[in-house]
Amino acid sequence: MSMLFSSAQIGTLQLRNRLVMTPMHLGYSPKGEVNDQLIEFYRARARGGVGLIIVGGCGIDRIGNAFGMTQLDDDSFIPGLKRLVDAVHAEGAKIVPQLYQAGRYAHSALTGQPSVAPSPIASRLTRQTPVELTQEKIYEVIASFVNAAKRAQLSGFDGVEIIASAGYLISQFLSPVTNQRTDRYGGDLQARMTFGLEVVEAVRNAVGPDFPIIVRVAGNDFVPGSNTNTESRAFCQALEKIGVNALNVTGGWHETQVPQLTMNVPPGAYVYLANGIKQAVSIPVIACNRINTPELAESILQEGKADFIGMARPLLADPELPKKAMNGDSHRIRPCIGCNQGCLDYVFQLKPVCCLVNAEAGREAELAELAIKNPPAQTQQILVIGAGASGLEFARVATLRGHRVTIWEENDKSGGQLALAAAPPGRRDFLYFGDYLVNSCQDLGVIIQYNVKATAEMILSSVQNGEFARVVIASGARPIAPSIKIEAGTEVLQAWDVLLGRKKTGKNVVIVGGGAVGVDTALLLGESGTIDNETLRFLMVQHAETNEELYRLATQGSKKITVLEMARGIGRDIGSSTRWSMLADLKRYKVTCLEEHKVLEIRADGVLVESAGEQQVLPADTVILAVGSCPQNELYTALQGKIENLSIIGDAAKPRKVLDAIHEAYVEGIK
Ligand code: SF4
Repeated sequence: MSMLFSSAQIGTLQLRNRLVMTPMHLGYSPKGEVNDQLIEFYRARARGGVGLIIVGGCGIDRIGNAFGMTQLDDDSFIPGLKRLVDAVHAEGAKIVPQLYQAGRYAHSALTGQPSVAPSPIASRLTRQTPVELTQEKIYEVIASFVNAAKRAQLSGFDGVEIIASAGYLISQFLSPVTNQRTDRYGGDLQARMTFGLEVVEAVRNAVGPDFPIIVRVAGNDFVPGSNTNTESRAFCQALEKIGVNALNVTGGWHETQVPQLTMNVPPGAYVYLANGIKQAVSIPVIACNRINTPELAESILQEGKADFIGMARPLLADPELPKKAMNGDSHRIRPCIGCNQGCLDYVFQLKPVCCLVNAEAGREAELAELAIKNPPAQTQQILVIGAGASGLEFARVATLRGHRVTIWEENDKSGGQLALAAAPPGRRDFLYFGDYLVNSCQDLGVIIQYNVKATAEMILSSVQNGEFARVVIASGARPIAPSIKIEAGTEVLQAWDVLLGRKKTGKNVVIVGGGAVGVDTALLLGESGTIDNETLRFLMVQHAETNEELYRLATQGSKKITVLEMARGIGRDIGSSTRWSMLADLKRYKVTCLEEHKVLEIRADGVLVESAGEQQVLPADTVILAVGSCPQNELYTALQGKIENLSIIGDAAKPRKVLDAIHEAYVEGIK
């Protein structure tokens, strides 16, 4: 890890290494204030060894901010900001705030006033039309950037970052799609750059020549008709000329239809954008987006594609990532799996951010208190039934608390339903989390016994003979079947069996149930028969086929798939940050999705459905059931009242999202 953890400079700012925690919306500051939750969150990341933390976005005003955002729009915030800066500095890291103005991405329901933008063009994100900024209002916004930067300087921050990416205000001025002005701020690229450059120049004049300024830019907007890497390079060159010290290069706008942060984005996919900028400037460039391992980070630096590496979610998942990597313990890093369930999905639900794989994220202060309140009275021998995600997480935490844990797992492998979640294309990261849990348990000395089919009698006798003082049932769930008539001879499979590769399907497949499991199954089957990646690359570089033909080969498999959903909406239980891209994939694979279709019967020749009073039979070789699951809680029921220290966690208690199961297991492990 020689380059990643070598000291480096941004302007006058000396950093202990080249790992930058890029800004992420946290929602921890309901009134814009710095509080203990925010401080402890960042203190943990600084203690974990990151070089630079970029906090934010931080609102420069109240027209363009977002919920729960730390604010820089009033002097009253300075004492709190100083506390934050001091906490991070005490751990050896540097810290800058990101100056944020969302323009037409701000939501009037949250700000209480109409959003502003270069031109009154409705936003797909908010479905609102902003008010066009007058020259006078433009000066006001620039003044807000300046005042925020001065407050940052007064608070002791080591510099500032200005956001000119993701489709926020400055990028709206840069883009011909959202800037249709005819004054000096609109027109050709040079004119569209004017606002951004004026903001940066005004901030530079206010903070002096030595205060580092970083600008976050979109390497490509990935919006039809908008800027690409070519225009971005020109903007970055102009920024360099006016004294910007580093460029933080991210991908597209929030409105883009090209996934930026979902699990199916290949790690490091957008590094080429940073590399493109690096070719055009001589100031340091930060590469980011789905760079989630120190090994990948190191190779990007070694190949000269960037000067710094930006990570946000990987440090939410594991604040100790830098230290572990430096100590040669990369295999112990808790991986960010790109699920977005606790971060982006929570932002869209206006909830404070957390993390699926790290129950402590955002709760550092609260959980430390909980652990203090619940000191382990004495070391206990604990038996856990089930080595799924919640059983493993419980075992990990309880062992860290000083207990000794044995897990009985009925299968020959661990991870439970993580294998189901990991089955569709582009979802394999779920397995990495399972690997982390198993490795952690093994490191800590948790005993995992496989192929043990536990019975109530076995458990009871092991408690009675003093082998275990506490029993935790984490036996998971099982799929259910709908109560409808199924004719003999029809091939009816459970989606779980298909996802786990235990059962093969025919060519004409009807999936009953359009929730996450139904969508996952459709995507897995949709991919079957498509061209493999190696062949695709071969044909592409040889110019053997047209782009259209390659696209067809990559997206059209060998099966005809129909998904039936009784209610309105497919994949309603999938987080909004991921759902749209999964639905787009269904379309690419030409999966037919039928909503508001009630299944009446499964016949030998297909599925009888009813919709809007009309009945029809959908022909099928294979019918797949994806209609939900129920708790596998028989052991708990049988042992209740017989074992004093008995509890039930995870899907065995109630089927739910992995995130909720993990967080519950963590808290149970602390008790
Ligand atoms: Fe990564 Fe998922 Fe955690 Fe977000 S919630 S940081 S995507 S693991």
